Amino acid sequence: MKRKHSQTPIKKPTYHGEKAPFFSPKEIIFRSNGRARVLRISPKMQVIIFVLFMAVAGWSFYSYHFYTRSGSIINRKDMELDMAKDAYVNLIADFMALHENVDNILNQKHLDSQEVEDYKKKATVFEDKIKNIASSADFVDENTLDQKKDLSAVILQRDVVASERDELKKQMAQMEEKLQEINNAQLDVFEKLRVISSKEVDKLRSIFSEINVPLKKHGLYFNPLANKRDSKGGIYIPEKSVINDKRIIDKISQIYKNVDDVEYYRQIAARLPLGKPVWSYWVTSHYGTRNDPFKGSKATHKGVDLASRTGNKIEVKAPGKVVRAEWVNGYGNMVMIDHGNGFETKYAHMNKIYVKKGQTVKFNEVIGEVGSTGRSTGPHLHYEVVYHGVSVNPMPFIQAKRS
Ligand SMILES: [Zn+2]
Repeated sequence: MKRKHSQTPIKKPTYHGEKAPFFSPKEIIFRSNGRARVLRISPKMQVIIFVLFMAVAGWSFYSYHFYTRSGSIINRKDMELDMAKDAYVNLIADFMALHENVDNILNQKHLDSQEVEDYKKKATVFEDKIKNIASSADFVDENTLDQKKDLSAVILQRDVVASERDELKKQMAQMEEKLQEINNAQLDVFEKLRVISSKEVDKLRSIFSEINVPLKKHGLYFNPLANKRDSKGGIYIPEKSVINDKRIIDKISQIYKNVDDVEYYRQIAARLPLGKPVWSYWVTSHYGTRNDPFKGSKATHKGVDLASRTGNKIEVKAPGKVVRAEWVNGYGNMVMIDHGNGFETKYAHMNKIYVKKGQTVKFNEVIGEVGSTGRSTGPHLHYEVVYHGVSVNPMPFIQAKRS
């Protein structure tokens, strides 16, 4: 567009009676080194410059509003930010180049043209606008950009933390599942223990029911719980912090109670004369009414006759105290032992007596030998079980198993 003009300025177009259009041709005259040059700015060029200004201003407005309108700027990715920054920097560079160009042109003008002045004003207004936009568009500022980058880092970190948290949640869920499995396994184990301990209690209780059968025939009853003191041993007080499953706590409580009961019942059963007083025998006479072998009439047999070999050992089936150890007419050599809880045992027709009155005997202690002393037709042990002074059927006691 620059064109050399030697001496003659070009003829200015004239507009008769009407106002000149904004983009009318402009001339700028340069004087340097004693030479004058004329720069003509055609309407087309002016339009281009104007459009460029508008583009920069418009883009700035757009980007400014784009980034500020949505409060979710923190969610923009670092790359997007860098791209925006690069684009903006490029645009600013373009603008600066353009601005410099125009500035050079304007500053070197020497024509006192009103249109040029207006144009300069407009250019200044645009320039100010650009500056305002640039200063208010905070993401252009380097510090702000750094902050944005930090923000991006924070966002990235947040995403990492979020994914870690998700992973942790997953792990926690797995752990809870495992804990649940362990809990179920514990529940299973405690249930088995509860069943085992309950069975043990039932077994002992069944012994008491068995020996109560002959007692009931005499209107008697042995209550194994008669002397039981209120025991705190069977109450399980859980530590809440360790076990918090009520089902497990309930089972443990039952197990504790069962174990406590088993221990108590075993102590009671241990004092009952349960089992065989001689190792090998056969029953020759049962308890109850029978024909008297000597008188031939009906009589009550107060015990059982256990036929065995002379000299076979007689054992006590519960600890106790010897209350009688003497010769008794009819019974021959006879021993009587007090086991406590109202129970006594009697041994008759003994060949030999090993114990003395007042002596304490242990479980399974040998007190003498099988014989045929007194009113006897052959070697046997006449065995009696007495409860509160009443001789009862000893067979359930003989046949009872301690477990
Ligand atoms: Zn007898």
